[in-house]
Amino acid sequence: MQLYNLKHPSQKVSFTEAVKLGLGHDRGLFFPSEVPEVEDIAALLKLPFIKRSQEIVHLWLKDEIAHADSDMLVAKAFNFELPLNKVDDSRWCLELFHGPTLAFKDFGARFMAQCVNYLAGTEPLTILTATSGDTGAAVADAFYGLDKVQVVVLYPEGKISVLQEKMFTTLGGNIHTLAIAGDFDACQDLVKQAFEDADTRHGLRLNSANSINISRLLAQICYYFEAVAQFQAANPGMAPVISVPSGNFGNLTAGLLAKAMGLPVKRFVAATNSNDTVPRFLASGQWQVNQTQATMSNAMDVSDPSNWPRVVALSERMGWGDETLGGVALSETDTQDAMKQLLALGYQSEPHGAIAGTALAQSLAADEKGLFLGTAHPAKFKDVVDRELQVELPLPQALAVVAGKPVLSVRLQADFALLKEFLFAKLG
Ligand SMILES: *Cc1c(COP(=O)(O)O)cnc(C)c1O
Repeated sequence: MQLYNLKHPSQKVSFTEAVKLGLGHDRGLFFPSEVPEVEDIAALLKLPFIKRSQEIVHLWLKDEIAHADSDMLVAKAFNFELPLNKVDDSRWCLELFHGPTLAFKDFGARFMAQCVNYLAGTEPLTILTATSGDTGAAVADAFYGLDKVQVVVLYPEGKISVLQEKMFTTLGGNIHTLAIAGDFDACQDLVKQAFEDADTRHGLRLNSANSINISRLLAQICYYFEAVAQFQAANPGMAPVISVPSGNFGNLTAGLLAKAMGLPVKRFVAATNSNDTVPRFLASGQWQVNQTQATMSNAMDVSDPSNWPRVVALSERMGWGDETLGGVALSETDTQDAMKQLLALGYQSEPHGAIAGTALAQSLAADEKGLFLGTAHPAKFKDVVDRELQVELPLPQALAVVAGKPVLSVRLQADFALLKEFLFAKLG
């Protein structure tokens, strides 16, 4: 697969290079020069999930990684269920949260860890990533214990739930966590600065692991095919509308790539909380980034989504207009209502999935049906779910174990010089 830098199209790299570099010159995102088209979609959709995912990944990587090897990476990464649950007569939820850290980011993180491990040479490398919640847990879990990789995770101090924090800050070993005095955008900015700084990038062999890493998108494309396969089992021949709870827009980018490969999706809905830059842009044509607001759906508290240039590039290439992507933003009150309405239908959800569920309901025409992505297990947002739905969720095993362990994070101001000092002291 050849990729180019969206800011400097003359920079062209292979998949291997893109995985290792994360970002291109000038913080440009890598994007595939071509999207492989699936010849026989119906046949592909008939395959079981792992086999189908192996074929999809092979279509992208066939000129770089032997089929048997990429098959192995997929099989090791995707080792959990993804059921499609019926919510009402027109909506289904694809539950992507049955992995080890109970969020959909396990898909991308586990596949990326497999790729990095496979592609790494003999020298140790450093994964540097920012998280607004779930990425940290997914990345830490996926890399924990790998001997050639050190992982550094930055997160906004006090802006993620206590349980979320416990999931990735209590591991120790090759997992280092930094609580930054600032919001998620500040954390993301520090990561970008580290990649721009030649000393840091080369000295520590930096690799990014947030949703900008191309290997994550590849993994996420696979579950959109599964979503449509299961949806069509219930609704033969029908193309669903798919609603995606969005923050950095990696998830939605993967969905659009799946559609570009030929997957029958009628259109997508970008569902956000009050950090609604994209829905406002889709309505007005004006890109206006406001101050990031803290919400209940904190994994979507992003006002300047880093994957947006990929969405723009693909839409232009495919000649897609308004009919392919709509946007809906929900306030905090709307989010509370969304969770309660789903519960009334017998479906317990958490704020992110609930936002996508209601955004879908608001977007569907009378003759349409669709699905929304359940991105986190309700127990992962236990505080909010217990409070809003007046329930007392049991703690799943994965959370119960870490709940009692101490947080091992180092606290740091949002200042690149301090970050650099820490990195070299710890890892240099
Ligand atoms: C990361 C995350 C999102 C947003 O996904 P993006 O790919 O950043 O748009 C939504 N829901 C949950 C639970 C998440 O962890």
